[in-house]
Amino acid sequence: MSGNTYDVIIIGTGAGGGTLAYHLAPSGKRILILERGDYVPREKENWDPQVVNVDAHYNTRESWLDKDGKELHPHTNYYVGGNTKFYGAALFRMRKEDFGELRHQGGISPAWPISYEDLEPYYTQAEELYQVHGNRGEDPTEPPASAPYLWPAVSHEPRIQQLSDDFTRAGLQPFHVPVGVMLDEKNRHASRCIRCNTCDGFPCLVHAKSDAEVLCVDEAVKHANVTLLTNAFVKRLETNSTGREVSAVVVERNGGLEKYSTDVVVVSCGAINSAALLLRSANDKHPRGLANSSDVVGRHYMGHTNSVLMAISKCPNPTIFQKTLGVNDFYFGAKDFAYPMGHISFVGKLDAITLKAGAPAIAPNFTLELMARHSLDFWLTSEDLPAPENRVTVDRDGRIVLTYTPNNLQAHERLQAKLKDAMKQTNCSVHGHECHQGLFGRNLYVGQRIPLAGVAHQNGTIRFGRDPKTSALNVNCKAHDLDNLYVVDASFFVSSSAVNPALTIIANALRVGDHLLERLGATNVSTSKTMLSTV
Ligand SMILES: Cc1cc2nc3c(=O)[nH]c(=O)nc-3n(C[C@H](O)[C@H](O)[C@H](O)COP(=O)(O)OP(=O)(O)OC[C@H]3O[C@@H](n4cnc5c(N)ncnc54)[C@H](O)[C@@H]3O)c2cc1C
Ligand code: SF4
Repeated sequence: MSGNTYDVIIIGTGAGGGTLAYHLAPSGKRILILERGDYVPREKENWDPQVVNVDAHYNTRESWLDKDGKELHPHTNYYVGGNTKFYGAALFRMRKEDFGELRHQGGISPAWPISYEDLEPYYTQAEELYQVHGNRGEDPTEPPASAPYLWPAVSHEPRIQQLSDDFTRAGLQPFHVPVGVMLDEKNRHASRCIRCNTCDGFPCLVHAKSDAEVLCVDEAVKHANVTLLTNAFVKRLETNSTGREVSAVVVERNGGLEKYSTDVVVVSCGAINSAALLLRSANDKHPRGLANSSDVVGRHYMGHTNSVLMAISKCPNPTIFQKTLGVNDFYFGAKDFAYPMGHISFVGKLDAITLKAGAPAIAPNFTLELMARHSLDFWLTSEDLPAPENRVTVDRDGRIVLTYTPNNLQAHERLQAKLKDAMKQTNCSVHGHECHQGLFGRNLYVGQRIPLAGVAHQNGTIRFGRDPKTSALNVNCKAHDLDNLYVVDASFFVSSSAVNPALTIIANALRVGDHLLERLGATNVSTSKTMLSTV
């Protein structure tokens, strides 16, 4: 066996690739992990809002183009652990109904080729692996689970608990958001997580966030059969003469090109970069790009319709770790709007420095400091629908072009209105109902939709399915057109639901991992026996 030949090559170390590497590592198979980025340096700047949010120090410097040819600076990160190094670690299961077809005001959210029950055992494994802290039974839309959370939910701080009580009095069913932080509230002196205000959007300086580097890649590389190459950008994939197999992975590293060969290649570069890689790898056997006889590669890009809505109250909000409360009462609709609206939760507590970066329009004489001290910073997510015209392409120079027109927007507007209505009904012990009428005696909400560059929730660009005419991957996430090419990042999504995507990516990577262990004839096939037999 030559030095450049492996049983499995995994490209990318985020939620998908990192988790898969962890799952396959004990098999003893020769595994090569290729990651274009380096480790996030551990430095005080990890927790500095100016450096992280204003200077965007850890974001890629790459620029892409939008549909009008305008430059786009994507808010995405190339490091070991991928975007999980920066995520807010809200780790949700998709709702059971999200796996079926759902009618939205803006169109149809199509069914997945697998059911919730097919993924359920892997959600349970994923929650265990990523140490999700949560309470079952609080979220009215929660799907059935075969096991409890192993760690209790992260508690609300007083201002958020007050809001939770207010929402409950107003007839809503607020719940504790499931989060992957290694917080031990009963033994704070020994807790790895210190419950700080720089979590969502920041790398964790003390490695207490459940990210794919700390929990998966760092563990995988302890196995002698696993090799990780960082600063290794995969430029393209080559196929053999029949076009049925990837024969070489071409890597740019140390200023030169290197080639690696393998029995199985798993692409996991994130939904935009994975599509770009397959498109860049076009050859005579695959003129539209690899695995793309269906012409779906790059299409159906989804990223959620997200917005931040700051409710500026009379009460101050001294919360440190704000991302603990969620509201899903409007997820599937309401009496006055029969279509799904989405999910309400929080971003990390916004501060004046971060606000300067986004600088939403604010009332005159209203300092950013005052605003940040009094705001409840909601995060609203609605489903965007998979439109074939919303797509990733690559221009002649290999540059990524992201063509996107938002859809299903009425659902999001309705969700914002529902939140404002709910806030009107809340009360506080000092200001009563007036608390949420703003510091100037009127309702004050400041917010903005996340722009196209906010590609944090990217998914859907290499969808899986049973029909090779309408999907690029089969149910095991293997390319229909090739025998040894798999994709395990967020690309495989058929619809995006309205909850955060990472736990579904992680669970699916574990599912595909079981299939690969079987394919490779490995002995440590995990305990789950529910893998689909359809290939
Ligand atoms: C600020 C922020 C907050 C978020 N909060 C949440 C949250 O609370 N909950 C949630 O569920 N999700 C959240 N997300 C989204 C979540 O992080 C992503 O859904 C998830 O990380 C996607 O996993 P992935 O495997 O698809 O891709 P990624 O995690 O992006 O991993 C892709 C990897 O591939 C590497 N790569 C790319 N191209 C190449 C190439 N050509 N060659 C080699 N390597 C390559 C990249 O460097 C990267 O390491 C958040 C994201 C951000 C940015
Ligand atoms: S809250 Fe905990 S996990 Fe998050 S950055 Fe702070 S210490 Fe790390």
